[in-house]
Amino acid sequence: IKISKSYKLASRDFHPDDTIIEVKGVKIGGDNLVVMGGPCAVETPEQIDEIARLVKAAGGQVLRGGAFKPRTGPYSFQGIGVDGLKWMKEAGEKYGLLTITEVMAPEFVDICAEYADIMQVGTRNMQNFDLLRKLGTIQNPVLLKRGFSATYDEWLNAAEYILAGGNPNVMLCERGIRTFETYTRNTFDLAAIPVIQQLSHLPVIADPSHATGRRELVETMTKASVAAGANGLIIEMHTDPDNSATGDGVQSLFPDQFANLLKELEQLSPLL
Ligand code: PEP
Ligand code: MN
Repeated sequence: IKISKSYKLASRDFHPDDTIIEVKGVKIGGDNLVVMGGPCAVETPEQIDEIARLVKAAGGQVLRGGAFKPRTGPYSFQGIGVDGLKWMKEAGEKYGLLTITEVMAPEFVDICAEYADIMQVGTRNMQNFDLLRKLGTIQNPVLLKRGFSATYDEWLNAAEYILAGGNPNVMLCERGIRTFETYTRNTFDLAAIPVIQQLSHLPVIADPSHATGRRELVETMTKASVAAGANGLIIEMHTDPDNSATGDGVQSLFPDQFANLLKELEQLSPLL
């Protein structure tokens, strides 16, 4: 693929080897497959503790959970805030998991980085350039989700902002894009995985939960992501997704589905 590139540090031309991000002994990138699992949002200390236990038992390495939630409407649950960061850190330490949480504004980067290992930039903030610049000033790994209407070039340029600021620890997350199709929440751009790996050395993580918006599609699209070469997965899981989840229940796996899926991935990965 020949396109004129305006990004440099994110490009494979500039950095031919795969970037491997190491966080507390967990390697992200290269031949490793990292699994991040957890609820859309941190809800209570008991909820995040129990889900952390289940993520660890299933073989996951990273606990996901939003304490600050970017909701489409202002009256929807906006997240627990700083207490949620504290509960998630406790749960992560208790079960030996890394943690990832979304940061929405530059002024919250320092507090999120104090409590969580990996900083998530959501699809709605992919081109929040002030946020990206601020994330360039820390060393915590950043998972940069693709904007739902962003081209590969725009996405890689967003990564470039963080890299250019001095933080080399960036991973890219395909979470589905907006198309004319409405059956699925978003349209999963599976080809983004090999394309981005060709254009860039940065790890590529797939999010089959937001990409489909439907629990019954998550298993298949997880396997498809691994077959396409994803370096990792971020999957929503909840103990009571149909009743008590504050958001994204319909796309969240039940704990046993999550555990079975990870078991199947173990059998699948040597074949790929
Ligand atoms: C999330 O991970 O819960 C989330 C809000 O994701 P996205 O930014 O991809 O919508
Ligand atoms: Mn969600």
